[in-house]
Amino acid sequence: MTTMALLASIIFSIVTAAALLLFAKNLMRIRKNILLGKASFINDQKAKRWKNVFLLALGQKKMFRNPLVACLHIFVYVGFVVINIELLEIVIDGILGTHRIFENYLTQLGFANLYTEIINCFEILAALVWMACVVFFIRRNILKIKRFLSQDLNGWPHSDANYILIAEIILMGLFLLMNAADSEKNFIISQHLSPYLKELSASSLITIEKTAWWLHIIGIYIFMNYLPYSKHLHIILAFPNAYYAPLTPKGMMHNMPEVQNEVLYAMQPEMAPTHTAAPASFGAKDVMDLSWKNLMDAYSCTECGRCTAACPANVTGKLLSPRKMMMATRDRLEEVGRNISLNKVFVPDNKSLLHDYISVEELRACTTCNACVEECPVSISPLDIIIELRRSLVMEESNAPQEWNAMFNNIENNFAPWKFAPDDRDAWTKKV
Ligand code: SF4
Ligand code: SF4
Repeated sequence: MTTMALLASIIFSIVTAAALLLFAKNLMRIRKNILLGKASFINDQKAKRWKNVFLLALGQKKMFRNPLVACLHIFVYVGFVVINIELLEIVIDGILGTHRIFENYLTQLGFANLYTEIINCFEILAALVWMACVVFFIRRNILKIKRFLSQDLNGWPHSDANYILIAEIILMGLFLLMNAADSEKNFIISQHLSPYLKELSASSLITIEKTAWWLHIIGIYIFMNYLPYSKHLHIILAFPNAYYAPLTPKGMMHNMPEVQNEVLYAMQPEMAPTHTAAPASFGAKDVMDLSWKNLMDAYSCTECGRCTAACPANVTGKLLSPRKMMMATRDRLEEVGRNISLNKVFVPDNKSLLHDYISVEELRACTTCNACVEECPVSISPLDIIIELRRSLVMEESNAPQEWNAMFNNIENNFAPWKFAPDDRDAWTKKV
C-alpha cells in the first residue's frame, strides 16, 4: 500500500468511527428523551404486534390508499435500504484500501457475473429512488399539494423535507456517477452516462470515480447524522412505533381508573373497588406527564399531514391541526431534553406543552373522532395527547367552557349529560 493510500485509509477509518459514534450518541439522546415519558407496559399480543410491524411499517399498508404515491414511497424506502448494502463494500474498501473487494471474492468463488448482477440491481433501485425523489420534490414545491402548504410547515419543517429529497437525489447521482467513471465496468444504468465521460483521460476518470466515491460515503454519513434532527427519523422509529401501537378498538377511550372508581362508587357502591389513592395530577401538562409511547409518536411523525387533512375540526377552519400537535410535542421534548443535559436535572423554565406550545383553543376544537389516528401511516395517535392535555386543562385548571361545566354537573348529579333526574329518564316514553 502506498503512503497516500495508507493515509486515505486512516482518514477514512477515523471519519467512519466518528460518524458512527455521533450517530449512536444522538440515538441515545433520543432514547433518553423518550424515556422521560411515564412508564407504560406494552408487550401483550406479540403476534399481532409483529403483524403490524410487517403490514404497517414494512409493507406501508396505509400508504396504499394512494397506490401511485405508495409505489414511489416504496421505491425510495426499499431502494435506499438495499443500496446501502453497497455501503458495506465501500466501508471495507475504504478501511483496507481495496477496490470493489466483493467482486474479487465472488470471482475467486466462481461467481464472476454475480457481482455485476447485484450492482445492476442496485443501479435500477438507485434510478427508481432518484426518479421518486424528483417526483416528490415537484409535488412538494411546484404542484403545491394542499397538505404541504399548511402553515404548520413554515420555516424549518419545509426546508427539512426538501433537504432530504435533495440529499437523496445527489447521493443516488453520485453512486451512478461513481460506477459510470469506472472504465472497467459496464453496469446497466451507469453505462448510459459513460458516453458523456468518454472524452476524458484515464486519470481524469479515476479522479472522478474517487471523488464521487468520497462524496457518496461522506454524504451518507452526513445524512445518517442528520436523521436524528429530522422528521426522517421515522425510517427507523416507524418499526418500534408499529410494534407498540395500541391494539384496542380505535373508538375506545382509556379511562382514568381513579375517576372511574369514583363514578362506580357513586353509581354502584357495591361494585366499586376499595379506595385507590388519587394521582399527583390528572392528565398531562407537559411532556413528562405523557407516556413514553406518546413521546415516541412525536419522534416518529413524518409531518405528512394526512391526519390534518382528515381532521374535521381543521377542515372546517378551526385552529386544530393534529400534525402540529405532534410537531409541538417533539419541539417541547427536545427543549426539555436540552434543559436536562445542560443542568443534569430538569430546571423549571416557566413553560409547558399546554399553553406555551398547544393552546386551549386547539384542544377544545377536537371532536375525538379518531380520523387522525385512522389516517396516520406510522401508527401515531395525536388524539391520545389531546385527551391527556385536555384532562389537565379541565381537571387541574378547571378550565372548561360553560356548556361543558353544565354537562359535567349533570353527569355528577344525574348520571347523564342532561338535566333530568335519573328517575325521570324514561319519562319521554310516557304519553302526555
Ligand atoms: S380526533 Fe380530534 S384531532 Fe383527530 S381528527 Fe378528530 S377532531 Fe381532529
Ligand atoms: S401524525 Fe401521522 S398522519 Fe399526522 S403528520 Fe404525523 S405521520 Fe402524518
